[in-house]
Amino acid sequence: MQVTINDIKSAAARIKPYVLHTPLVYMPALSRRLDTNLYLKLESLQETGSFKIRGATNAILQLDDDRKQCGVITASSGNHGPALARASQKFDLECTVCLSEMVPANKADNVRLNDGMVHVAGRDYDAAAAEARRLAMEKGLNLIPAFDHPHIVAGAGTVGLEIIEDMGNVDTILVPLSGGGLLAGIAIAAKAFSPRIRVIGVSMERGASMHESRLAGQPVEVGEEESLADALGGNIGLDNRWTFETVYELVDDTVVVPETTIAEAMRQIFLHQGLVVEGAGAVGLAALLSNRVSQVGSRVVVVASGRNVDINRFRRVVLKR
Ligand SMILES: *Cc1c(COP(=O)(O)O)cnc(C)c1O
Repeated sequence: MQVTINDIKSAAARIKPYVLHTPLVYMPALSRRLDTNLYLKLESLQETGSFKIRGATNAILQLDDDRKQCGVITASSGNHGPALARASQKFDLECTVCLSEMVPANKADNVRLNDGMVHVAGRDYDAAAAEARRLAMEKGLNLIPAFDHPHIVAGAGTVGLEIIEDMGNVDTILVPLSGGGLLAGIAIAAKAFSPRIRVIGVSMERGASMHESRLAGQPVEVGEEESLADALGGNIGLDNRWTFETVYELVDDTVVVPETTIAEAMRQIFLHQGLVVEGAGAVGLAALLSNRVSQVGSRVVVVASGRNVDINRFRRVVLKR
């Protein structure tokens, strides 16, 4: 079973009152430099600062009423936690978020800001995820994973629907890639409109689990390292059920980008557009700036997936320190 275009259309109708239809903005200077027409899809403007509010809202709205009382739990490498906390707050659910010790302090603050309970567990995402599974069993909480769940994939896919709605034909869509919920969802939406749209996943060189898995033809594990694109950390899971297959079958390519170009892309978006985008949200532009994708065509969309970067880190990136 895979998520279908109809699941994504249903998700779009379901979450419409609760999420932004984000703008697609044209980037004139970068378009000239890259010899194409470049648009940014500004999911960074979304409530809690990333597209994750789409999947979280879609998943919560599909819990049975009696299950809602039990509350929700998740593990997060950053943005899924605050998004689930915010969606829970809107519908009066209790929300617990397990974070690893690697997650930056600003992201734990974003959970608490939305009335979520933070539970720090483990040295990496995988350890935090194991703890979330254990607590869900022990306390009977609804486990809402960050990506490997059909309601999360369908919610993320609404980003793709909006791109098609606003632009019609696109040649290439560049999508930040970690667990692959966003990439799978966008690929399903885009390919349903036209199989000729190229959909490409972009990860950082440091710990690109889905990219490695795609090359291997099956889910494999990689080590987690510090990266400017911290929201892209973590493995896809050896028991992956929903995202690997879709990415493997539908996505045209996956590429990785070095840290220096992620910083350059963040800086360019700030200089040209006055927008703050976090490392994970800048990898699509980084792939273009470092020539990691060829033949993108004349209409290119880069999904700027989030804005949650620590202010000191952002300052160092912009000032090249
Ligand atoms: C979660 C996240 C991603 C990656 O999404 P996946 O569905 O895990 O691939 C990309 N960018 C940002 C800002 C995120 O929070």
